[in-house]
Amino acid sequence: MPVTSAPNRLRLAVQKSGRLSTDSLELLASCGIRVKSPKERLLLHSDNFPIDLLFVRDDDIPQLVMDGVCDLGIVGTNVLEEAALERRTQGSASGYLVERPLDFGGCRLAIALPEEKPYASAKDLQGLRIATSYPQLTKRFLAEQKISAEVVYLSGSVEIAPRLGLAEVICDLVASGSTLEANKLRAVETIFKSTAVLLRSTHQLPAEKTHTLEILLRRIDGVQKAAGAKYIMLHAPKTALAEIKKLLPGSENPTVLPLAGDESKVALHAVCSEAVFWETMESLKKAGASSILVLPIEKMML
Ligand code: ATP
Ligand code: ZN
Repeated sequence: MPVTSAPNRLRLAVQKSGRLSTDSLELLASCGIRVKSPKERLLLHSDNFPIDLLFVRDDDIPQLVMDGVCDLGIVGTNVLEEAALERRTQGSASGYLVERPLDFGGCRLAIALPEEKPYASAKDLQGLRIATSYPQLTKRFLAEQKISAEVVYLSGSVEIAPRLGLAEVICDLVASGSTLEANKLRAVETIFKSTAVLLRSTHQLPAEKTHTLEILLRRIDGVQKAAGAKYIMLHAPKTALAEIKKLLPGSENPTVLPLAGDESKVALHAVCSEAVFWETMESLKKAGASSILVLPIEKMML
């Protein structure tokens, strides 16, 4: 299906269906970008922001961005780095910019082997077969460790390779480790830590798109800064104010307001850039604070 070009609209590639899809669309929604139609369509236009979304497999995203077919993409650095290494080995251009790391899609690429197999160091991989969907990253690790092992490429279900006798060891993505456990494998070596990123093409953008991108980045920053941040309100005896201010996690210049009908106390409002735990609230209370309220922050523009 030909994809019509829209010269003044940013084109962003996102994963059609998988672990990054929901978070990618939620990030855009938090940035106030509305996309209406269902995901069966390949290309969706936002009706309130000059951006079009292209829904594809995550593996295709680095190439689409590096070739300038899309201006932007949201993809895991595992897929990105693998694609960049692959293109370098083929001698193709592999330019891209990581505009922002994103706070989702966290996982690691790890070497795992059957639970009963002993493992002391990477040297134990010498001469083995390693099944993986990430041959480039695996080969790079082996080269760094000066180990010679055979890399067997599998596009999926890598965790069953040892049982099938295809390989002794695997190198696969791990988040909670439950897939490994279910297959009686244990991770012994992390070779790459990954998160989702907003990726940008190095192809020059026209001025209008550059302006749209600046707005998008500012909004992403606002959403990411607000994530985990809290607005805290409390009453404090004037005498305890200095100690209470010190207890507030990651807050600068709180607002201090007089409290009607009570000369000895003030109201304090502050934005805390870090999470406010029950322990912090208990310490605040101990220091003399009362009526402590902790509120979520949706967006932030500094
Ligand atoms: P596609 O059909 O788009 O190729 P896929 O099967 O390759 O999908 P998913 O399993 O949806 O991909 O994973 C997409 C990305 O999500 C991974 O490349 C990785 O960056 C990230 N991710 C986060 N947590 C995990 C996890 N536990 N296992 C695998 N990938 C994870
Ligand atoms: Zn994929």
